Amino acid sequence: MTSIPVRIPMTNNNATIAYFSMEIGLTNDIPTYSGGLGVLAGDTIKSSADLEIPIVAVTLISKKGFFSQDIDGEGRQVEYPVDWDPSRFMVRLPKKVKIQIEGRNVYIQAWCYTVRSITGGEVNVLYLDTDVEENTKEDREITAVLYGGDVHYRLKQEIVLGIGGVRMLHALGFHIKKYHMNEGHASFLTLELLVLNKRDVESVWDENRIWDTNKVKDLCVFTTHTPIEAGHDRFSYDLVKKVLGEVIPFEVLKRLGGEHYLNMTFLALNLSNYVNGVAKKHGEVSKNLFPGYEINAITNGVHSFTWTCESFKRVYDKHIPGWANEPELLVRSEIIPEEEIWEAHLHAKGCLVDYIKKNTAIEIRPDVLTIGFARRFTSYKRADLIFLNLERLLKISEKGRIQIIYSGKAHPKDTPGKDIIKKIVEMTKTVNDNIKVVFLKNYCIELALKLVSGVDIWLNTPLRPREASGTSGMKAAHNGVINFSILDGWWIEGHIEGITGWSIGPKPVESSLIPVNDATDAEDLYYKLENLILPMYYHDRSQWIKVMKNSISKIAYYFNTNHMMRRYVTEAYLR
Ligand SMILES: *Cc1c(COP(=O)(O)O)cnc(C)c1O
Repeated sequence: MTSIPVRIPMTNNNATIAYFSMEIGLTNDIPTYSGGLGVLAGDTIKSSADLEIPIVAVTLISKKGFFSQDIDGEGRQVEYPVDWDPSRFMVRLPKKVKIQIEGRNVYIQAWCYTVRSITGGEVNVLYLDTDVEENTKEDREITAVLYGGDVHYRLKQEIVLGIGGVRMLHALGFHIKKYHMNEGHASFLTLELLVLNKRDVESVWDENRIWDTNKVKDLCVFTTHTPIEAGHDRFSYDLVKKVLGEVIPFEVLKRLGGEHYLNMTFLALNLSNYVNGVAKKHGEVSKNLFPGYEINAITNGVHSFTWTCESFKRVYDKHIPGWANEPELLVRSEIIPEEEIWEAHLHAKGCLVDYIKKNTAIEIRPDVLTIGFARRFTSYKRADLIFLNLERLLKISEKGRIQIIYSGKAHPKDTPGKDIIKKIVEMTKTVNDNIKVVFLKNYCIELALKLVSGVDIWLNTPLRPREASGTSGMKAAHNGVINFSILDGWWIEGHIEGITGWSIGPKPVESSLIPVNDATDAEDLYYKLENLILPMYYHDRSQWIKVMKNSISKIAYYFNTNHMMRRYVTEAYLR
């Protein structure tokens, strides 16, 4: 495919690495993300801009967002489409590309958003959009709702992302040397690359010689995020045939994507020279899930500058200049005086107290131990584990008061996840006198920063080994907020008992699913809350601040996307 390069507004198109992600969460104003995967993608892009890595990102415009969350009188989640206008933040590019869906031509345009780092680095993000007048009404909706609709809708979205994305990059004049698939949603890009790198051979009957899989493998990097079999996208070949058609012969496709149905993870695994999981443990778990593949591990991070609240930014600027672009320097946090850490924390806590008062009319107290729990609501995250033995929890709270602040969305089709929201909202009414419980609706990037900086303890209670990595605990650590979590995902690497925070439940052992043992985990949670956390918080403030400092110097300095991206460059992109 040759074409005249389009100059992308205000910058150039010399990026050689293309980063594909179904969702990207950069700012609150651009609601094209649902949770951790998207926010990680956004942080990846921001760090790439800091480090001036020549990357361009590709995603979908999701004009109705994921959804906006309200909670009704009974505690049920109600979803509304988000109404936002890309033209406020992005430039619509003049190029359109064409793909085939169900035999129809579907045209795709792109919006360009430029992420600018304070270092001067820039990364362009291309948001693909099928809402153009050439398309049928139905096709104009393909890029409307993130993770909306049924499997048919999802397949069309993934075709737009993977195949449309590669075509758009070519139309814009990019010469990409590495395609990085952030999760399997973008795996169709491998098919477009197979077609583009088709060998010219004499006999068209020799299929194996036509399709240069090695060439495509050299071009592709794949990051898997899902530690269980059922989490991986798959489509029946009947549906693929109907919607996508026969891009490459089905016989070849089945060899690459699975015999009985098209598994997007297998497609990416078979066509990438570098594959990784998102934490050391997740790398192992993935090896068990996909035996025979070489799977590496690069542990996730968060963008330090984004996820540090204003008061801590001021402290770091004063004592550790240069920290934002080189978060490794936070290893020196020991030099920050205790009072300044505590003051910065109280400032952040005050902001959260004000936000809660303004939005819920509930007054939480700044002098009470405050536990935060916010993330996607889905069963395995066990948001309600702390209430397993309510009587016990209430007893503990007589020794030292506690407040718990919740926030998070459940996928509109995740009924068990929604039931947990309902249960938590009910808790806000029942235990109010002894333990204040607050649920903040419409969790988003802005609210996440308020929470991860404004509470004292960041709680995470996933079912092992379902938390591939988790990142919100790393955000908390950047603000001196102490982690109290199940040993799964990144916390296995970040945890030093009593030094950087506290663990809940047994040590990680097996890579396979461990039978649910809510009671054992809850018991450990109660024990440590009662005997370690509450006494230290209320009676040994100096020790508490030491653990806060350790969170910064032993967690934040390492678990950040600047560090993570240096690893992607040297271990994945330059291979
Ligand atoms: C960081 C973040 C997440 C991911 O949190 P986990 O603890 O990794 O599940 C989800 N949603 C938002 C808005 C975030 O900022």
